Amino acid sequence: MSRDELLASLARLRQARVGQLRAPHKPLLLLWLFGQFAATGSSAASYEQAEEPVSRLINDFGPPVAAPAAARQRAAMPFVHLERELWDVRDAHGKEIRPDVPERRAWLLEKRAVGRLRPAVEGLLADAGTLAAAARLLLDEHFTPILADLICAEVGLDLASLDLADSAAAVPGGQRRERRRGFAEEVLRAYAYQCSMCGFDGTLGRQPVGIEAAHVQWHSQDGPDKVSNALALCALHHALFDLGVLGISDDRRIRVSSLYVARSEAGRAIDALAGQPLLTPRPRQPAVDIIHITWHAVQVFKDQPASDVLIQA
Ligand SMILES: [Zn+2]
Repeated sequence: MSRDELLASLARLRQARVGQLRAPHKPLLLLWLFGQFAATGSSAASYEQAEEPVSRLINDFGPPVAAPAAARQRAAMPFVHLERELWDVRDAHGKEIRPDVPERRAWLLEKRAVGRLRPAVEGLLADAGTLAAAARLLLDEHFTPILADLICAEVGLDLASLDLADSAAAVPGGQRRERRRGFAEEVLRAYAYQCSMCGFDGTLGRQPVGIEAAHVQWHSQDGPDKVSNALALCALHHALFDLGVLGISDDRRIRVSSLYVARSEAGRAIDALAGQPLLTPRPRQPAVDIIHITWHAVQVFKDQPASDVLIQA
């Protein structure tokens, strides 16, 4: 396998979907494995080792889970199904585990399943530039910049040094879809440089500070760079919006996840946003389109599961 073949294989994961939901399960398992590999020089991990940290990554950065019982074993899906050109999984006797086995924790634990990236893949990732390009590709294609930072911190990848190495070895085929120039400025202007949730409008001298243009439907998930798919948000509300703590209702009011918990007064100020209308954009600027509101509600907003589904554990 060459470097370009590895990156092409990672790029194909983009097409994976679970029903209509985005499916960042495999990218998150891979990013966790990259972190393990960078730290120890080996990507070998038993399911038992991987389950807790990888399930947590999927719960934190993936779409909302259907049932609480499913949350602890979300790592099972990518552990079983990650493409075998990248990944080798074996039981306690060294017998290969095929991708058609049940994706269930009890089964994987009983077999004492151990996975490892193929030697050719580890060989390529030993090069810092390739590791950087591989991690960047997964982060860019599945997440938002805010989440990329949080995921790297979680898996122990140093994003700054990765990007340094990455710029020395650009991704082939122009995988990265650039944001349209002027998009951020247009969005901030449409909302008069105010957070559309809390009204924050701080400046330093003449410069607005701590306020950002946020995609509602993520750029990486084909969200257009348009004012109708964007909000001006302060840095705090942008992060909470990308993480699914904050959402928007069909009538453009703020939703707060029922899973959000805070003790301090500052933390509880988030709860007070619930039901408040979003700031309306300036005249002749479009409000957020319902299509993108729906995308965010389904793919990102972390609400209490509507109903419990029976899960085989
Ligand atoms: Zn705000």
